[in-house]
Amino acid sequence: MSNEGSYEGRCFCGAVQFTVSGEPAAMGYCHCESCRHWSASPVNALTLWKLESLTITQGADGVDTYSKSPQAYRKWCKTCGGHVFTEHPGLGLFDVAAAVIPDFPFKPGLHVNYQEAVLHIKDGLPKLKDIPKEMGGSGDILPE
Ligand SMILES: [Zn+2]
Ligand SMILES: [Zn+2]
Repeated sequence: MSNEGSYEGRCFCGAVQFTVSGEPAAMGYCHCESCRHWSASPVNALTLWKLESLTITQGADGVDTYSKSPQAYRKWCKTCGGHVFTEHPGLGLFDVAAAVIPDFPFKPGLHVNYQEAVLHIKDGLPKLKDIPKEMGGSGDILPE
């Protein structure tokens, strides 16, 4: 870590490296089917950053992109297949999986898309049915 408030991230093999800096816009867990299927896991621990917070420092030409819907451009390393981040152009945010920025102090504040959950997590955090109102969702809260 070179600067305070700047954290290094990398793909599974390390060919693609990047930094995130400043404060994330939000941190939490997404339970939606797309995140679960893409990440091949029951829940996705995510951090959301403004576009200017993210800088690719190595291997930018080794990043490929897949978009199943215009809301999400999912990016991964062409060498190892490891995920690096997902761009959400409509929100002006990048979603960086907490797992690929291991030194970043992940402090989740909420669960989103809990109506699609397959793994229920009783941690006392708010469980949003879909996504927050300010991001275009209902903002409704579900029981754990
Ligand atoms: Zn890689
Ligand atoms: Zn999701």
